[in-house]
Amino acid sequence: MEMNTKAPFARHHAIVTGGGRGIGAAIAEALARLGASVSLIGRNTEVLQATADRIIKECGVKVATAPADVTDEAAVRKAISTVSSVLGAPTILVNNAGVALSAPFLKSDSAFWRKVFDIDLMGAVYCTQAVLPAMLESKWGRVINIASTAGVKGSAYITTYCAAKHAMIGLTRALAIETARTGVTVNAVCPGYTDTDMTAQNIANIMKKTGRSREEVIASLVAQNPQGRLIQPAEVADTVTWLCGDNAASVTGQSVIIAGGEITP
Ligand code: NDP
Repeated sequence: MEMNTKAPFARHHAIVTGGGRGIGAAIAEALARLGASVSLIGRNTEVLQATADRIIKECGVKVATAPADVTDEAAVRKAISTVSSVLGAPTILVNNAGVALSAPFLKSDSAFWRKVFDIDLMGAVYCTQAVLPAMLESKWGRVINIASTAGVKGSAYITTYCAAKHAMIGLTRALAIETARTGVTVNAVCPGYTDTDMTAQNIANIMKKTGRSREEVIASLVAQNPQGRLIQPAEVADTVTWLCGDNAASVTGQSVIIAGGEITP
């Protein structure tokens, strides 16, 4: 197939859940810079539209938005069908929508466990089940699951989040084997603490619970990263674009850790 070297992803339609802000917006923008059409799915229509407008202006690609809560399977199917009718069958899915709720294990009741698993795991399941048939038909596809370092190690007060992200990595590994001969790859990306609203909220919560200053809390978070800093969303995004390239075809079932050396398997 002939390649447009200025826009190597011009043939792609990438769906990014939670694409309106944070890591998801950075991923959508990075894919768009390579020429992909992108669809942003999330709950906040205004945020989605503002990010879409910015990407259209900066990258000159087609961008669609569709509101959906990823825990609502029917809404997910409707949103994916809507954006597919505008931009064609999706070739890339980035399961990025997620929440990092924290609570001590003994204060995490079943409703809390269900809420976190519904968003962080089942959201990815519903989206993947909705796009996979088209990828299998075209014999090409990329599914990228935004997990976390919490998917490969344990930490106090986030048993639920850790379990959901570990499950997301299990999903990635097993589906990669199931699709190994189909042209579809399935990988996870595992960032450490990244500079987004989620981490800002996390910092505010820890300050409230411990009475520590913002500087002290930030210092304790970045201390987990041997490079002593927060990860930037663009660093996560560039790993995703690499995994989406044709030359990453033999990389599947992997969990790529972006955490300054926090995890050294
Ligand atoms: P943000 O809180 O900044 O953004 C979360 C995104 O997820 C928003 O776009 C939000 O959109 C969307 N979202 C949340 N719940 C739902 C839902 N039920 N349905 C649809 N969309 C939803 O988080 P980050 O950008 O920091 O995180 C993105 C991903 O990266 C998450 O999966 C997170 O677990 C993971 N991660 C983040 C790290 C960090 O330190 N920030 C570290 C490691 C992993 P809206 O509110 O409009 O619905």
